[in-house]
Amino acid sequence: MAKNDQFVSQIADIETDFPQWYTDVVLKTKLVDYGPVKGTMVIRPYGYAIWENIQREMDARFKARGVENAYFPLLIPMSFMTKEAEHVEGFAPEVAVVTHAGGAKLEEPLVVRPTSETIIGHMYGKWVESWRDLPLRLNQWCNVMRWEKTTRPFLRTSEFLWQEGHSVYASGEEAEEETLAMLRLYEEFAKTVLCMPVLTGRKTEKEKFAGAAATYGMEAMMHDGKSLQSGTTHYMGQNFAKAFGVQYTDKDGELKYGYTMSYGVSTRLIGALIMTHGDARGLVLPPPVAPVQVVIVPIAQKKEGVLEACKSLGERLRKTGLRVTIDDSDNSPGWKFNEWEMKGVPLRVELGPRDIENGVLTVFRRDTCEKQELLLSEAENAVASLLGSVCKELYARAEKRMRERIVPANTLSELLSGVEGGFVRAGWCGERACEDKVKEFAQATARVMDETHDMPFCVCCGKKAKHTVFFARAY
Ligand code: ZN
Repeated sequence: MAKNDQFVSQIADIETDFPQWYTDVVLKTKLVDYGPVKGTMVIRPYGYAIWENIQREMDARFKARGVENAYFPLLIPMSFMTKEAEHVEGFAPEVAVVTHAGGAKLEEPLVVRPTSETIIGHMYGKWVESWRDLPLRLNQWCNVMRWEKTTRPFLRTSEFLWQEGHSVYASGEEAEEETLAMLRLYEEFAKTVLCMPVLTGRKTEKEKFAGAAATYGMEAMMHDGKSLQSGTTHYMGQNFAKAFGVQYTDKDGELKYGYTMSYGVSTRLIGALIMTHGDARGLVLPPPVAPVQVVIVPIAQKKEGVLEACKSLGERLRKTGLRVTIDDSDNSPGWKFNEWEMKGVPLRVELGPRDIENGVLTVFRRDTCEKQELLLSEAENAVASLLGSVCKELYARAEKRMRERIVPANTLSELLSGVEGGFVRAGWCGERACEDKVKEFAQATARVMDETHDMPFCVCCGKKAKHTVFFARAY
C-alpha cells in the first residue's frame, strides 16, 4: 500500500494548495523544466508532444479556411514599434531590445518580437497593391518574447510559442466578420480538441490589445475558479494599415487603406488544459492531444505469451491511428499504474495470463478512475468508443463546474464573494472608473462582455448598465 500512497503524496494537494499542485504536476510529469535565464522554460518531449498535437489540429482548421503559413523575422526595427502610438505604449514595458551585435553597437536598436503586427504590417504595405491582392491571410507559428517579472510555466513566461494570424481585407465588415469567425474557430477547437468549455465575447477598452479597434477573448475557468485567457482575436480597423501604408487600388481606381485583423493562441493552452481537467492524482489529458492515448501494462510480463499478446494488441490499436505505448519496463505494475495516471494517459489497458485465457482486457479510464472489461476480439472498436466517452465526460464535467460557479452580482460585496470561487456576471455602466474600482476592491478584471445583456445596473456605481460582463480573477 505504502508505495502507491508515497507516489501520490509527491504532488501537493489540489484543493488546499493549487499553485503548488500545478508546479509539482508540470515538473514531475516532465512537461517542462526551468530554463537557465529567469522566466524562461524548456518544453520537454512530453509537453512538446501536446503542443504538436494542438498545432496539427489547429493548423488543419486554418488551412481549411484558406489561411497560408509563412515566417517573419524575430528581430524588428525599433522604429516600427513606434509607428502605431497605442501599440508602442502597450508593449514598451515588456519589450526586449538588442543593442549590440557583431561586436559593435547597432545604429538602430532591434526589438525581439513581442508580436509581429508591425513587421507584418510593413511587409503587407509592400505586397498589397490592388484589390486583387485581397484578402491576404497569413499565419505564422513562432516564438515571441515579453519580459515578465513573475513567471509560471505555460501561463506566463518571457518566451513562449504561439501562432499569430494576420489578415488584410478591403472592407471593415469583412475584417470584422473574420475576427468573429476566428473566435468561433477557437471556441470549437477548445470544445472538441481540448474538451474545455469557454466563454467568448468582446473585451472592454481597458482589456483590449494595444492598437486594436476591438478585441475578443476566449476565457476558460480553471480548477480554482480563476480565469485563463486562452485565445484572442483583434479587429484593427485601419490603425495598422495607416501606420504601415497598407493601401490598394480599388476597382474604381481609387487608392484606399485596407482593414486588418489578427488572432493568436499560445502554449498557454497547455496550462489551460492542465488546470481544467487535472485532479488529485495529476494530469488528465484529453484524448485528442494526449501524447499517449493508450498505455498497455503487461501483468506477470515474464509469463510466456504475455508480452507477445501485449505487442500484438498494441499493433492492432496503432493501426487504427491511436498513439499507444507498451510499458514493459521492469517496474512493478502498481508503480506503472501510478506513473501513467500522474501523466494523465486517458486509457490504461491491463493484460495478463488470465485475461488472455479469457479473451478479455481490463481498461482503466483516467477521467473516472473506473475499470471495465472489454472483449479482446473487439478491442479496436471498444477502445475507440471509450476514448470518445472520455472526451464527452471531460467536457461535461468541466462545463457543469463552470456553470455552477458563475454567479450573478448586484453589489461589490456580492462580486467579491463570487470571484473567490468562480466567475461573476454583473452589470457595468461602461465607465473605466468603475472597472478600475472592481479591480481594486476585488482583484478581479472584466474578462469578456456577455452577448446577452440583461443585468440592469452597474455593480459598482448602481447607474444603468450598458453591458453585462463576466468578472473574474485571472492568471
Ligand atoms: Zn458604474
